[in-house]
Amino acid sequence: EFILQVKDLVKTYPNGTKALKGVSFNVPKGAFLAVIGLSGSGKSTLLRCINRIHEPTSGSVIFEGRDITHIKEHQLREARTKIGMVFQHFNLVNRRNVLNNVLTGRLGQLENKFLGGIFQKWPEKWIEEAYQALRIVGIEDKALIRADGLSGGQKQRVAIARTLMQHPDLLLADEPVASLDPSTSYSVMNYLRDLNQKHNITVVCNLHFLSLVRDYSTHVIALKNGELVFEGKPTDITEKW
Ligand code: ADP
Ligand code: ADP
Repeated sequence: EFILQVKDLVKTYPNGTKALKGVSFNVPKGAFLAVIGLSGSGKSTLLRCINRIHEPTSGSVIFEGRDITHIKEHQLREARTKIGMVFQHFNLVNRRNVLNNVLTGRLGQLENKFLGGIFQKWPEKWIEEAYQALRIVGIEDKALIRADGLSGGQKQRVAIARTLMQHPDLLLADEPVASLDPSTSYSVMNYLRDLNQKHNITVVCNLHFLSLVRDYSTHVIALKNGELVFEGKPTDITEKW
C-alpha cells in the first residue's frame, strides 16, 4: 500500500530553471525514504511540490489515494495537516518559548507565523499534547526556554515536536541534519527513526551523507539534474551520480 505516489512531476521555476523534469516514484506506507543527489539536483523542490509550498508545473501527487494536485484550497489544507515538514534551518520563532513554538504546529504550516501571535491562551488539551510531543523528542525540560537559547540539535527536535501537533501520517524532512555536527545528527536521526518505527509516521528525508542513508533509510531515490536516476534499497547503491 502506497501512502504517496508521485507521477511525472515537473517543476519549472518562473525564471526558467527546470528543477524537476518528470519525476515518478511510490512511497510504501511505513517507509523511511531517503532522497539523495548533489546540491541543485531538485531534492528540496521535490519536497516543496509534494506539500505544495510550491505549485508543481505539471504531474500529480497522490497522497493516501487522493490526488492533491488538483483539489480545492480547503481540501488541500485538510490533506496538508497530515503532512508535516521540517527544514534545515528549523524555522522556529526565536523569541517565543519552546512550548509556544510547538503549539503553533496545531495552526497549520502556513498560518503559523501570522496566527501564532494572537493566541493568548491555548486550550489546555493542546498544552498537554505539546508536552507529550516534547517528551517524544526528549526535550520537555526545555519547554519554557526561548527558542534562541537552544542548540541546533535541540531546535530541530522542537521543530519535529511542532509537526507532531498535526498528527502527521507523512513527515517531509529537508536536509534536517545538514547544519548539525555528526553526533548531534545521529541523535536527531534517531528521533526521526522513532517517529517512523514507533509512531507509524512515513518519512521522506533529503540527506547529504550516504552514511546516514545507509543507517536510517529503508528505501532510496536519487535525483540528478531534476531526473530520477536511482530507486532501490540503501544496500543497492553502488554508483556515484
Ligand atoms: P537541492 O535541494 O537538491 O539542492 P533544489 O530543489 O534546491 O535542489 O534546486 C533545484 C534547482 O532549482 C537548482 O538549479 C536551483 O538553483 C533551482 N531553484 C531552487 N529554488 C528556486 C527558485 N525559487 N527559483 C528559481 N530556481 C530555483
Ligand atoms: P561530498 O560530501 O564530498 O560532496 P559525498 O560523497 O557526500 O561527497 O556525495 C555528494 C552527493 O552525492 C551527496 O548528495 C550524495 O548523496 C551523493 N552521492 C555520493 N555518493 C553516492 C553514491 N554512491 N550513490 C549515490 N549518490 C551518491
